[in-house]
Amino acid sequence: DLILGIETSCDDTSVALVDRGGRVIACETVSQFDIHAEFGGVFPELASRAHLEAVLPTVDKVLKAIDSDTGRLRAIGVTRGPGLIGSLIVGMNTAQALGLAWGKPVFGVNHLRGHLRSPDLDEKRITYPALLLLVSGGHTLLCHMTSTTEITVLGTTRDDSVGETYDKVARMLDLGMPGGPALDRLARAGRAVHRFPRPMIREGYEFSFSGLKSSVARMLEKDPDVDRADVAASFVAACLDVLGTKVRRALGEYEAKSLVVVGGVAASPQIRDLVGEICAKTGVQPCLPPLKWATDNAAMIALATWDYVDRSEPTDMRTVPSMSLAAW
Ligand code: ATP
Ligand code: FE
Repeated sequence: DLILGIETSCDDTSVALVDRGGRVIACETVSQFDIHAEFGGVFPELASRAHLEAVLPTVDKVLKAIDSDTGRLRAIGVTRGPGLIGSLIVGMNTAQALGLAWGKPVFGVNHLRGHLRSPDLDEKRITYPALLLLVSGGHTLLCHMTSTTEITVLGTTRDDSVGETYDKVARMLDLGMPGGPALDRLARAGRAVHRFPRPMIREGYEFSFSGLKSSVARMLEKDPDVDRADVAASFVAACLDVLGTKVRRALGEYEAKSLVVVGGVAASPQIRDLVGEICAKTGVQPCLPPLKWATDNAAMIALATWDYVDRSEPTDMRTVPSMSLAAW
């Protein structure tokens, strides 16, 4: 039994086949990078059109891995939110049309539940109870999980997400797109000599990153000749300090066998080092997705779909631009 996953929430058209154990039979992702690069961000209307062109050919390509034998499919899972509404609609309509044609059930999947399952792709890694840090382009969440589907949100961001902050600071430093990875690389060449603020570090599990972003902007305005690698390194140090402090605090208060870190920013080697360090000290098991499954992909959506298949309630098929991690 396999699930066909479809992910079109932002600027990648991705389709995958995944079995119940998380083994990825096939995954094809078409990037829209070249289309959006000149705008310095994702252009929603162009994204929807590009999805429309790419989605069916990508489904065909993936099905070749099973000789187009749709009899092997248990269900179709598709991202219903959060994301760009036009892009989501292309994926949802495609999934529903294929479901009708092939006589397969279709499940609308919460994209964030896809991210949180990503470390279990290829092989099972997460052990419960677990502490979850989700750091993606649009979200920053710290959660406690007692099973795959029982999630308590401990804190989220009051303003920008970590990924968004990386991207905005990268733009201030003229690092081009995609900003996050470029900033991360530049930071590794610099020294953290500047002391940027660590918003909300002292208490609780809520985050705020806009003040940190503004102080980087102010420094670049005041001193245009400042060493850029040092600014990048100091910015990353402030982010990691905040994230690390909150994670350590939560590990002190909640029982956890593993520390799960997912989302695009989990691709950063510096985040990976921080997770390794925290886990070595606390004896908690580190759980990170393999690099290729950290950013958006349909394999994680297909794997999350198994949780929906096992539920007795039907899934909500409404397309939504934003939704909480706790929602189905
Ligand atoms: P969401 O899942 O919240 O809807 P998204 O799908 O757009 O958002 P992801 O694909 O999970 O987000 O992650 C993209 C983010 O990850 C971007 O902000 C990007 O800058 C950041 N990112 C990717 N690679 C790295 C890296 N090596 N270092 C730091 N940040 C990175
Ligand atoms: Fe995502």
